[in-house]
Amino acid sequence: MAVLADARPAGGWLAPVDLSPYAAGNTGIPFVTTWDSGSEGPHLAILALTHGNEVCGAHALDHLFKAGLRPRQGRLTLAFANIAAHATYDPRRPVASRYLDEDFNRVWSPASLDGDITTRELQRARALRPLLDNVDHLLDLHSMQTPSPPLALAGTTPKGVALCRRLGAPAHVIVDAGHADGVRLRDYAGFGDPASGKSAVLVECGQHEDPASRAVAIDASYRFLRAFDAVDAATAAPWLRDTTPQRVVTVTDAVTVCTTNFRFTRDYLGMEVVPQAGTPIAIDGDVAIHTPYDHCVLVMPSRRQRPGQTAVRFGRFTD
Ligand SMILES: [Zn+2]
Repeated sequence: MAVLADARPAGGWLAPVDLSPYAAGNTGIPFVTTWDSGSEGPHLAILALTHGNEVCGAHALDHLFKAGLRPRQGRLTLAFANIAAHATYDPRRPVASRYLDEDFNRVWSPASLDGDITTRELQRARALRPLLDNVDHLLDLHSMQTPSPPLALAGTTPKGVALCRRLGAPAHVIVDAGHADGVRLRDYAGFGDPASGKSAVLVECGQHEDPASRAVAIDASYRFLRAFDAVDAATAAPWLRDTTPQRVVTVTDAVTVCTTNFRFTRDYLGMEVVPQAGTPIAIDGDVAIHTPYDHCVLVMPSRRQRPGQTAVRFGRFTD
């Protein structure tokens, strides 16, 4: 498949949010605001713009700020993550603002955070790290290249799946170890440690710039706040979308691009179920890529296939 320009979603265009009201924050870290209810309870955090072009999360935080929402117990942090990348956002080429020097969602190993290398993403990660070390439960809001159904990325721990179940949406829960090229924020430290009481979920809210992704991000935010009783049911209710029963898909393989001539055999959007094992779904150079088992789910096909990057993941239903 040729490299596509940023495809405009069919439902219109989700413009970025004016973040200037949130720049100062109240934590000493730019674009980070924490409210303390004054009563016992967990420290929750909702992050937007971990990828600078994924604006749905910024809309969700903007909504929570404008609604005047405050936690009724514990603490709540709202944080805009890769602000420097987002500041380069150009509506003609939004994906160029995904990151500046490296992917902010691949730097969360101690080796990277404590290492000698400095990138703009690592600088921001190091600035946020003390706050995140203090967070008990994290919701990280993202969006996708294709109009795939929304996904909750649970990581590999049972507690990750349990958190997705407590949210009750999105309908697809993905059990996935992440990426070979670096640790995601949702897997950082206690969030990914099965022995820790902390937990995290990454929600992929839909296609970048699709207005529907804003509603999914707001829905996910209220579900997350409800899961820890940080808001009452009446506050959340108007913003919750209808649900369908959740299915758990466990990723078994990631297809890594090997050549500069990779193409899918069809224009896959994501979450297609391929009935037959051995079905060719892509050609990489002159090598055909086949599904490894019956009822194989295609998770998050990429529209930009560069050597070394993940083109698609294979998953199977495990619930
Ligand atoms: Zn993302």
